[in-house]
Amino acid sequence: MALGKSAGVVIGSFPLGESDRLVTFYSRDFGKIRGVAKAARRMRSRFGSALELCTLGELVFFDGGRSELVRIDHFDITRPFDRVREDLERLAQAAWIIECVARLTAERDRHVALFALLVRSLRALESSRSPARVAICFGVRSIEALGHRPRLDACVECGRAYPFPRPAFGAGGLVCEACARAGEDALPVSPATIGALERLRSLSWEEALALPLGKVEAEISEILEAQVSRIIGHPTRATKFQRDLRRLLPVAPGRA
Ligand SMILES: [Zn+2]
Repeated sequence: MALGKSAGVVIGSFPLGESDRLVTFYSRDFGKIRGVAKAARRMRSRFGSALELCTLGELVFFDGGRSELVRIDHFDITRPFDRVREDLERLAQAAWIIECVARLTAERDRHVALFALLVRSLRALESSRSPARVAICFGVRSIEALGHRPRLDACVECGRAYPFPRPAFGAGGLVCEACARAGEDALPVSPATIGALERLRSLSWEEALALPLGKVEAEISEILEAQVSRIIGHPTRATKFQRDLRRLLPVAPGRA
């Protein structure tokens, strides 16, 4: 039994029973933590609006040791990131980022670099004119930080050195045409996209946010989503949300 304290970001928040909330945090010092915030939905709750998605704060929790769930005692807002939630396009990209963090990590598995990347991405989303680019930069770096760095210099199946004609992107990186035909579903990928991926992972964060990508940006988003869905076993819900949004609002809000 212990009291825990850490900076954390709200990555999930659901009503529980009459007045409580089940909240998932990604914390700097403990990784992913789930807990119950008692009476969080009552008027004049001490949590106020602190338990909204994306909020960064200082978390104090009590771990009884008998269940995976902790008791959330305090969560004091450091930065609410409310501008992220107020814009649909930003929110849609934040939802993908948060889903990646929630699904690609195990509970209580501390990963300080991923926490820093999450906060940095939320900060960039608040000010960026291109939320999709922030998600790309997050995706490239988080996949790598979590040990799933894709191979871009050779076919992952047969080892044939890249460049080769008609490259595709499969589990773990590039596959050549013959291996793509023989194996499971690999996405065709253009050489320009492979080059851009290389650059995105070698540039600094600010440079990567500003790198002109043109048409390959959409292909990179697709590849990152394919990589994440391979690891978690199904497509992300955030991508479906983004598709629905595009159907409803053909001109992306925030960029109109
Ligand atoms: Zn091959």
